[in-house]
Amino acid sequence: MSSELENSTAPDCDVIVVGAGFAGIYALWKARQCGLDVRGFERGSDVGGTWYWNAYPGARCDVASYNYAYFFDSEIVRAWDWSDVCAGQNEIQRYLRFVAERCDVLGSVTFDTTVVSATYAKETGLWTVRTSNGESTVCRYLVLAVGALSEPKAPDIEGVDDFAGKAYFTSSWPRDEDVDLKGKRVGVIGTGSSGVQAIPEIAKVASDVFVFQRTANYVTPTSGGPMDPDIVAALRADPQAVRSELRETFGGNQPLYVGEERFHDLDETGRERALWQAWDAREVPLAFRDAHLPEANAAISEFIRKRMHEQVEDPWTADQIVPWDHPYGGKRPCMSDVYLQTYNLPHVRLISLKETPIERIIPEGIVTSAETIPLDVIVYATGFDAISGPVRAMNITGIDGVAMNDVWQNGPVNYMGTMVHRFPNLFLPSSAMSPSVLSNMATLAEQQIDFIFDKIMWLEANGRPGLHPSEESQIHWQKENLRFAERIPGALDTDSWYNGANVPGKPRQYMVYRGGFKRYHDACYAELESDFPGYELVRKTEANRAS
Ligand code: NAP
Repeated sequence: MSSELENSTAPDCDVIVVGAGFAGIYALWKARQCGLDVRGFERGSDVGGTWYWNAYPGARCDVASYNYAYFFDSEIVRAWDWSDVCAGQNEIQRYLRFVAERCDVLGSVTFDTTVVSATYAKETGLWTVRTSNGESTVCRYLVLAVGALSEPKAPDIEGVDDFAGKAYFTSSWPRDEDVDLKGKRVGVIGTGSSGVQAIPEIAKVASDVFVFQRTANYVTPTSGGPMDPDIVAALRADPQAVRSELRETFGGNQPLYVGEERFHDLDETGRERALWQAWDAREVPLAFRDAHLPEANAAISEFIRKRMHEQVEDPWTADQIVPWDHPYGGKRPCMSDVYLQTYNLPHVRLISLKETPIERIIPEGIVTSAETIPLDVIVYATGFDAISGPVRAMNITGIDGVAMNDVWQNGPVNYMGTMVHRFPNLFLPSSAMSPSVLSNMATLAEQQIDFIFDKIMWLEANGRPGLHPSEESQIHWQKENLRFAERIPGALDTDSWYNGANVPGKPRQYMVYRGGFKRYHDACYAELESDFPGYELVRKTEANRAS
């Protein structure tokens, strides 16, 4: 069904869910469980979201997959076997398809369809959602489950379109082409998590690899290997208990190791011992109970820099690869057991853009201030217009035609990371100022979708057509975010995609809630328990009166 009328008084469905990744699949299922009529739109040809698009060689989860998974249905937990502690992209996408099939939500989703705009009509209290195929669909509740890392950053390098060879983006790796890098001269731009995972795989087949690094990043060992049968048994014994436990943690995860001692209770020898212990347990950032303190963070950062340096044989490369300029956690750190050693291979060379910046791309390759590097292939691992980008990419208008991009012109504002003043019944899971990318995104997806549908069912039960946060609540939430971000070493002054510094012209604002998952969860449910004091209720409309 579709409607051409912006002020139609009859919705085509109760809920529209945009996106079919972790949050979208669960939202589709949840809507149906609530007895609501739901439709979904997905830009990709299959479910998976980030795990659909980022199909580059080496893509894998760098947190434990058995935690980075759904827990809402105990039978799903019991029915799925992870092949590895940190599963690869393909396996995670298969898992998401398995869940979508099992929950029977695929039939509700229109694939290969991009949502281009969403318009709220105050007169009817309804949202009109327009898609790339020209259709409009009208709904009462709109859930934009579009992810935090789904809007690739446009390459800001002169001459990008001039290159005569093949160019690929890690963020939209071709799925219909067998990318052949064998024997090719490959340039990789970017050394964030995607570059760090892709570079060792590319080096296995390419004849020459040139890595163009602008900012060095922290790289620590990752977990991997087959699942521990004791962990599997514990997960399956009582999945709902695990679900509750995850929501009680700081990051929505159950780390296998956390240092028990406090940094200031230890002398130099004790600190070194604690750091090595955590390094061997592959959790060096959690070496101390109070690892968040600036002094502890400085010790952890220095320890990692030393370990990184000693893994790279060439002294110049080792100096360049170590992040001297920001503390651990200032940017999103990377994990790999093979990345640093890749630079010990004779056909892999680091180009430090701090010393010799890229001047332009030409048909034959990349020109830096020092040389021209001939290439057959360029891989852009240059990241995303993160967190607020996917919402900014849509044309969203709320009460009285107010545009989201105007409201967000100085950076995103919202309440509890999910709703924006003057945009009633519009829900933004995984967006700005929620624990989002600094928590377990799967745990967060379930928590946020639960909270969103708790809100919706509260409205339904109370016969209210809609709600949106008050302006005061948004201001309060903004301050809360800043209060926590200020405590994190390097959070505000390191250039990163957490604060929008990676996208030229993007307003700089720290976009991740650092108060921890549990505090966030408790704050959400305190609102629900008190009948939403931080929100404004929408008045009854003609449409509601008639129904
Ligand atoms: P990213 O972390 O933003 O890294 C982009 C890289 O490209 C940076 O090294 C950046 O340098 C560089 N870059 C960007 N524009 C450039 C330019 N014009 N010239 C030269 N270099 C340029 O992006 P990402 O690696 O795709 O990762 C994004 C996020 O996705 C991660 O942080 C993580 O949260 C998620 N991810 C997760 C996993 C996982 O295992 N769970 C795997 C991959 C990605 P600067 O640092 O100087 O800007």
